[in-house]
Amino acid sequence: MSDNKSKKQLFGTNGVRGVIGESMKPELAMKIGLSLGTARKGKIAVGMDTRTSGPALINALKAGLLCAGCNVIDTGILPTPALQYLVKKHYNAGAMVTASHNPPEYNGIKLIEADGTEMDDTETIKVENILLSESFKCGDWKNVGSETHADDANNEYINGVLSHFPGLSANMTIAVDPGSGPACLTTPVILSRLGCTVHTINGSCDGMFPGRLPEPSVEGLKGLSELVRSTGAAFGVAHDGDADRAVFVDENGDYVEENEEFALMQRYFSKGTKNGIVVTPVSTSRIVEDIAKDTNCRVVYTKVGSIYVARKMLELKKNGENVVFGGEGNGGLIFPEHQHCRDGGMSAAAMVALLSSEKKKLSELRKELPERVMLRDKIYTEKPGEVIEKIKDMFSNENLDLTDGIRINRKDSWTLLRPSGTEPFMRLFVEAKNRKTAENFSEEIKNSI
Ligand code: MG
Repeated sequence: MSDNKSKKQLFGTNGVRGVIGESMKPELAMKIGLSLGTARKGKIAVGMDTRTSGPALINALKAGLLCAGCNVIDTGILPTPALQYLVKKHYNAGAMVTASHNPPEYNGIKLIEADGTEMDDTETIKVENILLSESFKCGDWKNVGSETHADDANNEYINGVLSHFPGLSANMTIAVDPGSGPACLTTPVILSRLGCTVHTINGSCDGMFPGRLPEPSVEGLKGLSELVRSTGAAFGVAHDGDADRAVFVDENGDYVEENEEFALMQRYFSKGTKNGIVVTPVSTSRIVEDIAKDTNCRVVYTKVGSIYVARKMLELKKNGENVVFGGEGNGGLIFPEHQHCRDGGMSAAAMVALLSSEKKKLSELRKELPERVMLRDKIYTEKPGEVIEKIKDMFSNENLDLTDGIRINRKDSWTLLRPSGTEPFMRLFVEAKNRKTAENFSEEIKNSI
């Protein structure tokens, strides 16, 4: 691939990540601070999730930013979308110390632009080039920056989320699993202030993650499901390690597949609109097309990665389009009225609004969605480019989409084959109305390779 996404050396789709003491060290964090401080001037906000290595990295990051002459605002422990919200409102850029859903031994840094979105590929490559060539600018004694603290950061974010639900007072019981991450400080407060009775599991900030890993997997959420059943909650909500994603279990404690979550929210937020647009990557379920048809909307597809979705939403809005909803089929939802990034706290609040409005149980709403079966697989290869060319030739008389990898669209099914960004395999997604068709389509692709 010759696009900018693959030109990045240090930064992946969501920033720099690595195991502490191995590929992620304070030296690297300081250089990222120096590089970001050279590329961006003014007030830079920094924050972190609850990982044990957070303080070591954030102090190194701040040292670099200060030396480059930036004024640093330390917002402490907060969700990534909270930092993005604050940067959009007050600052020139931001840097979040987090490894999102990765295991506890990882940490990383995400860069945030003044509009609150994650830095795009082109700008990230510029920061990388400063870092790799060590061409940072370090100020003299009169030009080093100053440091202040934003003590009210989480509260400002909470108020920002709540401002989208004026008058909503739901008499609902909800179970919350913030996974010992920064949402311990936000999501229970948001839901309580919406009038809900909140029960939590893994509700204290703890970088040892004693209850479950930062990825909110079906296996890891067994405790949440039990809490939902024992308290009679309307639903349970859980976050990944930096709470930009939210996943749900229904009132029976059953996991709501993330594409279903997307579809329910899409339907709710596009109700009553005309010529609305929904933006999502090519890997999302075709349920979004069905819902779009029912609600007079159309779907615009992007490459896989929330920054591509967020930037496409902004671009369409600038062109005067009515962008009603966006996000990914992995629990990362984007609410354009609020901000152009995934927001887990906002997703939790939106589910309260949705259930209050629909007056049905979450399990009943799930049953209303069209049935689809999605299969995911990995295909190991060192030469993904050649595989894609081969598939392109073999299926040249079909409806192909080359937005990211190769997608073959058929009447009631589709398949997507795309290279992994970091490892020698390709991801294969196949979706159909029933398992048999999906399995046959999957076999057809595998046999062709
Ligand atoms: Mg995350």
